[in-house]
Amino acid sequence: NASSVSLADAAYVKISEGDFGYVLDDVPHLADYLPDAPTYPNPLQDHPAYSTVRQYFVNEDDNVPQKVVVQKNSRRGIHFRCAGPRQRVYFGSDEVKACIVTCGGLCPGLNTVIRELVCGLSHMYNVNKIYGIQNGYKGFYSSNYLTLTPKSVNDIHKRGGTILGTSRGGHDTKKIVDNIQDRGINQVYIIGGDGTQKGAYEICKEIRKRGLKVSVAGIPKTIDNDIAIIDKSFGFDTAVEEAQRAINSAHVEACSAENGIGLVKLMGRYSGFIAMYATLASRDVDCCLIPESPFYMDGEGGLLQYIEKRLKESKHMVIVVAEGAGQDLIAKSLATSEQQDASGNKLLLDIGLWLTHKIKDYFKIKKMEMTIKYIDPTYMIRAIPSNASDNVYCTLLSHSAIHGAMAGYSCTVGIVNGRHAYIPFYRVTSTRNKVKITDRMWARLLSSTNQPSFLSPKDIDEAKETDDRMANRPPLPTGISHHHA
Ligand code: ATP
Ligand code: MG
Repeated sequence: NASSVSLADAAYVKISEGDFGYVLDDVPHLADYLPDAPTYPNPLQDHPAYSTVRQYFVNEDDNVPQKVVVQKNSRRGIHFRCAGPRQRVYFGSDEVKACIVTCGGLCPGLNTVIRELVCGLSHMYNVNKIYGIQNGYKGFYSSNYLTLTPKSVNDIHKRGGTILGTSRGGHDTKKIVDNIQDRGINQVYIIGGDGTQKGAYEICKEIRKRGLKVSVAGIPKTIDNDIAIIDKSFGFDTAVEEAQRAINSAHVEACSAENGIGLVKLMGRYSGFIAMYATLASRDVDCCLIPESPFYMDGEGGLLQYIEKRLKESKHMVIVVAEGAGQDLIAKSLATSEQQDASGNKLLLDIGLWLTHKIKDYFKIKKMEMTIKYIDPTYMIRAIPSNASDNVYCTLLSHSAIHGAMAGYSCTVGIVNGRHAYIPFYRVTSTRNKVKITDRMWARLLSSTNQPSFLSPKDIDEAKETDDRMANRPPLPTGISHHHA
């Protein structure tokens, strides 16, 4: 229910009912509190490269629907403002002083985003004052700003990591905005995950409180693809592709031993998208475990019994596990207390190592010979440069962010239903995108691996009820599934 979303933030979020039953979830704009700020014609109108585009500027009223398929008589749902260049911009080219910061963990594509922000600002809007903040949020107040030019970032997209450095913790809103103000920065580009986008929203609110003419643009980063609303996050494709190499190695190891098991742990703290897509792509995986689908080890239909059955059938087996899967099982068996990192994120226990021991113990008792090889390619995957399709995606995201900031918006950018949109910060941080085990994709996975679902009929009913609640759908009569309704 859009109108009940974060009332505390209502001052920053204009939600208006359109004629066609949709709700436009708008993003904050400089004109909300600086109504007299001058505007300028968009310099792109004189740019030779764009002269062939038929309709280059986005109409202010264009928007992107969150849902393409809507049920009969239901509301059309939430719409977002369409991303893209506006006819008039709120900053003159000489006036812009932009800065870029990367926060949180590494993800393929960070350097591409940095590069494209610098080149886009420079080549499309003739901006020449662009700075890099070093080592995440704390770099705003604790290190020198780097000067970035198209030349200095020219080939950074071929390297993994982030040339600016990154960190966790250290978000001090007041000190950050003081520094933005002191240095005369008026466009802030913030690349990072859910924590980072929350931080960006805090900065955005503080800027508004102080009445500063500063746009804040967030480019969401998550290798796990767990950011809500957006279709896909940059780096995800690359991660799935690179994960294939780990799965292949696990398969080779498993096939080369009698009763060999290859176990691969992939990223996915709360969402198993990488594990699911890597499994579907590879076809060598016999079991995929993700945080969204609880499983149990021992007993009728348990993981250990399934492993035993697979080994007896084919003498080898490959298991893929997402890092966040089975955390409840480990916590119970190790009785450890929860620990946190500098940003306040829960530190996960190593499910791969734990599974390895459990599986070994089981077959020792069964007196069945086996070998297990555990591969954790996490840091190798996070550190590689982005692939071709992610590189193009990063470019489009960066351009969306630039057009939005130039036009005076403060928001997160992303693709919604295949269209680039400006999304309010709170939307992408208030929920997480998860694999829906009641969707067809998870069913495809189960049928491709032939693994047990580990769920009782009661668990399945509960999952469907949760789905209905989340989607605001009336519950279906039992025994009827949604795609028949
Ligand atoms: P990922 O989890 O994908 O690695 P992330 O952006 O979630 O990325 P975090 O380490 O959680 O990574 O956060 C990055 C930065 O955002 C940190 O500097 C942290 O201090 C700041 N941050 C996190 N949560 C908040 C919050 N609620 N308000 C303000 N700042 C926050
Ligand atoms: Mg995070």
